[in-house]
Amino acid sequence: MKKRTRVTHLPLVRLPPDNRPLVAPIHQSVKFSFDDVGETLRFFGAQREGFYYSRVSNPTLRQLELVLAELQGRDACLLTGSGVAAIALTLLALLKAGDHVVYFAELYGPTRALVRKLLGRYGVASTMLSLGDTDSLARVLAATPTRLVALESPSNPVLRVADLGRITALARAHGALTLLDNTLAGLHNHGEYDVDLYVHSLTKFASGHGDVMAGAVIGRGELVEQLRQDCSNLGPTLDPHAAWLVLRGLKTYFLRWDAHCANAQRVAEFLAARPEVSRVRYPGLPGDPGHALAARQMDGFGGIVTFDLAGGLAAGTRFAEALELFSLTASLGSTESLVVAPAMQQPRGLTPEQQAWSDIGPGTVRLSIGIEDADDLLADLRQALERSGS
Ligand SMILES: *Cc1c(COP(=O)(O)O)cnc(C)c1O
Repeated sequence: MKKRTRVTHLPLVRLPPDNRPLVAPIHQSVKFSFDDVGETLRFFGAQREGFYYSRVSNPTLRQLELVLAELQGRDACLLTGSGVAAIALTLLALLKAGDHVVYFAELYGPTRALVRKLLGRYGVASTMLSLGDTDSLARVLAATPTRLVALESPSNPVLRVADLGRITALARAHGALTLLDNTLAGLHNHGEYDVDLYVHSLTKFASGHGDVMAGAVIGRGELVEQLRQDCSNLGPTLDPHAAWLVLRGLKTYFLRWDAHCANAQRVAEFLAARPEVSRVRYPGLPGDPGHALAARQMDGFGGIVTFDLAGGLAAGTRFAEALELFSLTASLGSTESLVVAPAMQQPRGLTPEQQAWSDIGPGTVRLSIGIEDADDLLADLRQALERSGS
């Protein structure tokens, strides 16, 4: 073999069957081959196991799918290149022109935009409600045949806790599927509820280090398989190296989750005692409207703390800029602490009534609490409150 050929046909290294790496390799290959056409066709016909093309399946992705499905308490998982891709894929795969979706004003902004703008363009009707208003949900489901109820708990950014028992029972009784964006609750929560499909942004707590984007849809095998068909045609595939980074992050998921939750509880209690702060939203505070539900539904109250500065928008800008340990940026669920100022998250495209439901006020600040020493976080918050004259 000439050298020019050798560099494209590398020497094969096979591990003996009884010799295994402790960390699974990254299968950074787009294609997988079989020895002959017959075996390839047997694979196409689902008569044998294997892999063929990484847009459809890949061993590294398969390993991540297996562990995520188990963490969420379901039997199947499908990975995507981002959390938003998981949501978009699920909506496109489940809905068709003439269908009706119920969603909520408190949801993550891009999810609201997907339902209203993208699905609207394809002839899917939708009704927006407030996540806490299950009576209106019951009324709408009784009046309008509905294919899907899309929700979050706790919601991003205002941490509204959904009554999952009531909402899933209502949806089931009216023949609607439920889609729960479970990103803020973590992978280990809410599995016991009658939710049809969970979506996660793995960009957040699952991978945990802010160095990779990924998403997942988790649910019953037959529903996820239906999505997988559309996924292979739409192509929002996750790269094997990104899947491997998520797998690596997952090893410390529970350690990080506990640290995020413990720090967030201390931050929430600290903020609740400050005169500059008019309201703290954190389900771990006994006075939070979602506390009783979250205590029943969740193991750990999560790593996000949202609060309102009495001084409003300008105070929020000064405060966020005065913080030193907290980085002023989007996203959440990383090892380092992050802040979003009120001016960065004012909802768009909502009616005044929906805006009130969204519960984002002029002084609403969202903190993603990292795993730093809690005393350092409190000292930074204290100096920023004092220095910004909030
Ligand atoms: C971040 C986030 C998403 C989107 O995830 P990406 O990985 O950024 O695409 C979806 N839902 C919630 C609740 C999120 O916080």
